Amino acid sequence: MQRAIRTPAGLAAAVGIALEDLPYSQIADQGFPLLVPHAFAARIERGNVADPLLRQILAAQDETLTVAGYSNDPLAETSLYAGTPGLLQKYHGRALLVVTGQCAINCRYCFRRDYPYSDNAQSSTERLATIDQLLDDSSIGEIILSGGDPLLLLDEQITAIAQRIARHERDITLRIHTRLPIVIPDRVTTALTRTLSQTGLRSVMVLHSNHPNEIDQATAKAIQSLRDAGVTMLNQSVLLAGVNDNPDVLAALSDRLFAAGVLPYYIHMLDKVAGSSHFEVCEDSARRIMGELSALRPGYLIPKLAVERPGAASKRQLEPIYPSV
Ligand code: SF4
Repeated sequence: MQRAIRTPAGLAAAVGIALEDLPYSQIADQGFPLLVPHAFAARIERGNVADPLLRQILAAQDETLTVAGYSNDPLAETSLYAGTPGLLQKYHGRALLVVTGQCAINCRYCFRRDYPYSDNAQSSTERLATIDQLLDDSSIGEIILSGGDPLLLLDEQITAIAQRIARHERDITLRIHTRLPIVIPDRVTTALTRTLSQTGLRSVMVLHSNHPNEIDQATAKAIQSLRDAGVTMLNQSVLLAGVNDNPDVLAALSDRLFAAGVLPYYIHMLDKVAGSSHFEVCEDSARRIMGELSALRPGYLIPKLAVERPGAASKRQLEPIYPSV
């Protein structure tokens, strides 16, 4: 994290593109700055300004456009707090804790890029008290750690959360939404995997990977360590124009995930956060892409195409449009 790339010059050097040829925007960078770990930058094809991984992290001129329908809080999350900072209860039986505002990478399409993290911060003690409240609520069967990236908590903090949940008499699932094993695989430490295995907790990790080039040997090794610790591994992606809006790319992503022991779970329509309109894929195109993908791979390698609407009781799945025969 300390050595992560934070300047356009650093990025240009890392990806072998002359600074003047890098389509970087200083204005787009303000408020949501460039942040790329070296482990991720190393997977960007050198000299390729159209690289799909570069597109996800480069502050670009298109972000400065004002587009109708795009807002700072596309899922209206700031209106969902149940009086406890960082606690979101969108869906029945599940509670989501935004445990940190920090990320290891700033994805330009992130729906929480303008999220008021500082208004919703909790100390470790407050967070454990919130978890105690949730454990006392018999309607809650799953606690989800989100962010930011929850794997930016210290191992001791994650251990404290896992132990708290594991020692409760009810059988509660711990779910962790994270991009860290993808972008900095070294984050998957022995202490982390030991915690997840020794507590005996039922744990699910939902990775966030959008393109097959994001998964290399180091990520596969990190994933294997998590699987060895008994963690169920799933992946969610965002469907992004110029990144993965292509059935062959998605098929290759599913292959790479499956080879690493991860099942593709969801592919989300873009949440319309201000500054991300250049990533939008319309619903009809998305459904056609999924129809074509369905013809390429078996059902267990086809993620569900989903869209989230503020206030809805669940995500809504979109049916593929299958190619005519
Ligand atoms: S890692 Fe996740 S939370 Fe962090 S910037 Fe990327 S999409 Fe947003």
